[in-house]
Amino acid sequence: MNSHDIAFDSQHIWHPYTSMSHPIPAYPIVAAHGVELEMADGKKLIDGMASWWSAIHGYNHPELNQAAINQLNQMSHVMFGGITHPPAVNLCRQLVAMTPAPLECVFLADSGSVAVEVALKMALQYWQARGNKRQRILTLRHGYHGDTFGAMAVCDPDNSMHGLYKGYLPPHIFVDAPQCGFHDEWEPSDLEPLIRELTKNHREIAAIILEPIVQGAGGMRIYHPEYLKGVRQLCDEYGILLIADEIATGFGRTGKLFACHHANISPDIMCLGKALTGGYMTLSATLTTRHVAETISNGEAGCFMHGPTFMGNPLACAVADASLTLLLNSPWQQTIANIEQQLKTELMPLASHPAVADVRVLGAIGVIEMKQPVNTATLQKVFVENGVWVRPFGKLVYIMPPYIITPEQLTKVTDTMAKVLGNQ
Ligand code: PMP
Repeated sequence: MNSHDIAFDSQHIWHPYTSMSHPIPAYPIVAAHGVELEMADGKKLIDGMASWWSAIHGYNHPELNQAAINQLNQMSHVMFGGITHPPAVNLCRQLVAMTPAPLECVFLADSGSVAVEVALKMALQYWQARGNKRQRILTLRHGYHGDTFGAMAVCDPDNSMHGLYKGYLPPHIFVDAPQCGFHDEWEPSDLEPLIRELTKNHREIAAIILEPIVQGAGGMRIYHPEYLKGVRQLCDEYGILLIADEIATGFGRTGKLFACHHANISPDIMCLGKALTGGYMTLSATLTTRHVAETISNGEAGCFMHGPTFMGNPLACAVADASLTLLLNSPWQQTIANIEQQLKTELMPLASHPAVADVRVLGAIGVIEMKQPVNTATLQKVFVENGVWVRPFGKLVYIMPPYIITPEQLTKVTDTMAKVLGNQ
C-alpha cells in the first residue's frame, strides 16, 4: 500500500465509528501471522485485540487455512433453502455438543448483530405462538448487543445510539447493571432493581437479554456469577425467556468455554459469533431449546421467519468447524488460566496510577479503566510506535489477545499499556 492508497482510504472508505470528514488514522496492514500484524513498511505489531475478540488462534493458522482451501475446492457457497451440506452439519453438531444441554436447535446467520436480531425475533415469535403477544425486552444498562436496529434498541440507552434514533427504537425496559464485581463478595441486593421491574411488568416481558458475566463494549464490566444465577431463577419464576449474548464471551475467553458456565446456568437462547470462525470470516449462530423451536414452529407462521442469502455459508462453516476442533483439542483451560495469571501480575499494580480508576482481569481479558476518556488516535500512535496493537476507546485501555500469545509477547503488550498511561 502506498501513500495514494492511504489517501484514497481516508477520503472514500468509512471505518467503524469514524468521521468521514475528520477520520483518525487507519494503519496499513498487509499480512498477519501468529500474534503479529505486519504493516506495509514491514513493521510488526503484537496484537492485543484478537481483531475484536475473534482471532483466538492467531492469524494464518495452517489448519484453518487448510480447512478453507479444502472447502473452497468443494464449493464456497450454496443456498441453504432446501439444501444442506457437510460443513453446516459438522459445525452444528459440535455447537450442540459443546453448549449447555437444552440448547439443540441452531440458526446460522451472518454476524453477531444478526444473531441478536434472530434471538429477539425468536422470543417474539415464541410468545406470539403461545397466543400471548409479549413484545417488550428487558435488559441491563451498560449492555452492548450490536449495531442493527433491534440490537441497538437493547444497548445501553445513555452510552449508545438511543439519543440519535429516539422515536425509532422500540421502548424496551432497562434495569441498573449489577454492581458486584466478579471477585467481590456477593451482595443479593444487586438483584433488587431487576426484581422490582419484574414484579411490576413481568406480564409484558418476552425475554431478558444480557451479556453473561462480561459486559463488553458498554464498559468492560465484569460482574458476579450469582447475579447471573439469580437472573436465571427469576426468568424461571416468571416464565420469561433468557437470551445470553455470548458473542464476545464465548469459546473460552473468560476462562470457561461459555461465560454461562461460571454460574452453571443455561439460557433459553444463546447468541454466538466473533471467535466462532477463529476470526477468519463473519458467521454467527443462535441456539435455542427444542421447546422454544417447537413452540415457534407450531405457531401461526408455521416456521421461524428469517433466512439470509448467505445462511450457513459452507466456507465459513468449514473454518468454524476446524476452529472449534482446534480449540477443543488444545489445553485451552490451562492456556487461558496462564494468561489470566500473567495479566493479574502485570496489570493489577497499575491500579495505583493516579490516572487509573480500576483494573479488571478475567480469563484472557485485561481492562484498565481510566478516570478520564482517552484520546484513541494519540494512544494508538504510541502503541504502534512501540510495536503493539491495542485500540482503546472511551475510558478503557483493554486487551483480549489471541490465546497463542507467548508470555514474552504479552509482557510487551502490558508494558506498553503501562507506558501509555503516562501519555494522558
Ligand atoms: N453482541 C456483543 C456482546 C458484541 O460484543 C458484539 C460485537 N462487538 C455484537 C453483539 C455484534 O456483533 P457484530 O459486530 O458481529 O455484528
